[in-house]
Amino acid sequence: MINKLCIIGVGLIGGSLARALRAGGHVREVSGYGRSIANLQLAVELGVIDRVEVSLADAARLADVIVLAVPVGGMAEILQQLAPLLTDQVIVTDVGSVKGAVVAAARAALGARFPHFVPGHPIAGREQSGVAASVPDLFRHRRVILTPGTETDSTALARVRTMWEAAGAETIELTAEDHDRILAVSSHLPQMLATCLMDMVVRHDDHRAILDCAAGGFRDVTRIAGSDPVMWRDICLTNRDALVNALRQYHVELRDLISAVEKGDGEWLLATFSRAKHARDGLNKKN
Ligand code: NAP
Repeated sequence: MINKLCIIGVGLIGGSLARALRAGGHVREVSGYGRSIANLQLAVELGVIDRVEVSLADAARLADVIVLAVPVGGMAEILQQLAPLLTDQVIVTDVGSVKGAVVAAARAALGARFPHFVPGHPIAGREQSGVAASVPDLFRHRRVILTPGTETDSTALARVRTMWEAAGAETIELTAEDHDRILAVSSHLPQMLATCLMDMVVRHDDHRAILDCAAGGFRDVTRIAGSDPVMWRDICLTNRDALVNALRQYHVELRDLISAVEKGDGEWLLATFSRAKHARDGLNKKN
């Protein structure tokens, strides 16, 4: 049971975590801090948080656990503002989709309190954003990746792990570097493909006809192009190297595909479609 939880950035992810912990009776009080008071008041009206913190100083002074749930590009500034306000008891964690940059920002800002920072990333989400889209079961049976380092305090780590398990998730641990490399392929690359496809089609001379004839496949592949642009800009800017590597690998794959189609290489095409189908069928069975 967490006595006082403070969510900084009460949107889809922060709001869903608050809802899950409240629904299960795992937290006594949830407060929220953010940019716009209107959003925080909406969060109170929706029953997501109990209270609005008007200052970061109050948020830091009164909380046992602080969850940073703002876009990755906003984390460094908040960590810098929080650092002088933190007491020894408070645990800080985050939900950012990129870990290396957030860990570096936390290390630079928090100094001696860095061991009480537990980096995390729930592998759960949806293309809608904002507190109105938050739901209590977003993390149920989903994974949360924690990326503690050698300095991370074991009690703080255990507390954050327990918090996510209480929200219905399974936790695993990776290094921040492995997280960013793996997620660049499993999460960030698919977003780039969906975005590029949607953007290409909408700028096409025949875009109306193409969209009128869009079948289920087009809708499935472009669904995540509707995700929040600020979040994705920040992910691109903070996971640059790993994402560029993933995009280059995909570029090679596309180049080979273009060449096979150009040459009419049916053997290559059948082998590639069969291999991918086999792999995708396996993923269906696993989930
Ligand atoms: P969201 O729904 O847009 O919520 C973000 C919240 O942060 C909003 O309430 C916003 O408040 C607030 N905020 C933004 N910038 C801020 C700042 N500089 N200072 C204080 N508050 C600020 O976004 P989200 O989808 O929950 O994403 C939050 C984090 O979770 C991101 O780091 C993202 O990478 C990570 N994540 C997202 C997903 C996903 O699928 N969406 C999945 C896993 C992890 P205002 O409304 O007042 O602007």
